[in-house]
Amino acid sequence: MSSEIFVTRSSMPPFEEYCEEIKDIWESRWLTNRGKKHQELTEKLEKKLGVDHVQLTVNGHYALELVFQAMGLTGEVITTPFTFVSTTHALVRSGLTPVFADIDPDNYTMDPEKIEALITPKTSAIVPVHVYGNVCDVKAIEDIAKKHGLKVIYDAAHAFNETYDGKSVATYGDASIFSFHATKVFNTIEGGAVCCDDAELSDKMDRMKDFGIRDEECVDCIGGNGKMNEFAAAMGLCNLRHLDEEIGKRKRVYDRYMERLDGVKGLKLVKTDPLVQYNYAYFPVVFEDSFGMGRDQVFDRLNKEGIHARKYFYPCTNALDCYKDRYDPNDTPVALDISKRVMTLPFYASLELKDVDRICDVILEVGKN
Ligand SMILES: *Cc1c(COP(=O)(O)O)cnc(C)c1O
Repeated sequence: MSSEIFVTRSSMPPFEEYCEEIKDIWESRWLTNRGKKHQELTEKLEKKLGVDHVQLTVNGHYALELVFQAMGLTGEVITTPFTFVSTTHALVRSGLTPVFADIDPDNYTMDPEKIEALITPKTSAIVPVHVYGNVCDVKAIEDIAKKHGLKVIYDAAHAFNETYDGKSVATYGDASIFSFHATKVFNTIEGGAVCCDDAELSDKMDRMKDFGIRDEECVDCIGGNGKMNEFAAAMGLCNLRHLDEEIGKRKRVYDRYMERLDGVKGLKLVKTDPLVQYNYAYFPVVFEDSFGMGRDQVFDRLNKEGIHARKYFYPCTNALDCYKDRYDPNDTPVALDISKRVMTLPFYASLELKDVDRICDVILEVGKN
């Protein structure tokens, strides 16, 4: 049997480059607590993402909890169930009540038409997700938020480096969070960030990620420990140098998948938006009835061939065991349906085109029978 193909494979710089980057840490012995690497990465990302403030964190999940808490959100928050569990957990763990809006059937982001009916006097914010790197309808969401006086925080974990209508995705809404987890387009091993243009909010988050410490004798807010360490920041500095090259390689893989799968009966691929410059983070495929085989059957068949895809995002978060009896996934029928039909195919910069062909051959073969 040919070698196994996993759904993702982390981007890493050349070994020597990383060693060179971390050398001075041995001299400074400054391992964490906003050291030189942390500072340098912060500045580079502020420039790259076109925002006034970047707060680096220990991971993307912490970034979500940090911004919700620093903003002082209360009551209900309108969000999407079609996301990684982190988005929903972060709301619940921050004492908020997620209220789920259904998604757009073509790009799987929050459907703005579904938002207004869910707004109550208790609603304080909207938390949409640029899922798979598909940018939300940011203009429509902004209009609704303005009209009702709500904050907008984007979970942009999948959208690093993307632009919408010529502007960095990080510039939309009141704040955006990113994940720099090992499996994301840009990684710091584990890591994340909150981006915003509000100096006061950024300053508060800076303290909150360090136990709320203002100075030696003054602790004026209740925070946790969410700082990014110097080795993680150093990995980020290295990976940032190779980002364009990595995204270029991802585009090659994307183009090959499109060449092989676009237009095949029963396979629904993401409808791309000409206003978005993509980072090619994921390749989701939705299996419609007319394909003749269900998602789970194709998934099992790929597995048998040593090809490990993912049922991302299944179950949708309002159907998770831990939320049983609390939320009803039937309230968001589109998300529920897509979650049962979708699969993300192996996708990473170093995936070879012959492996893409092997994956497509199996899918097309299954569809034929
Ligand atoms: C990865 C991810 C997160 C969490 O980020 P971590 O860095 O893994 O903590 C949050 N939201 C979404 C949509 C993600 O994909």
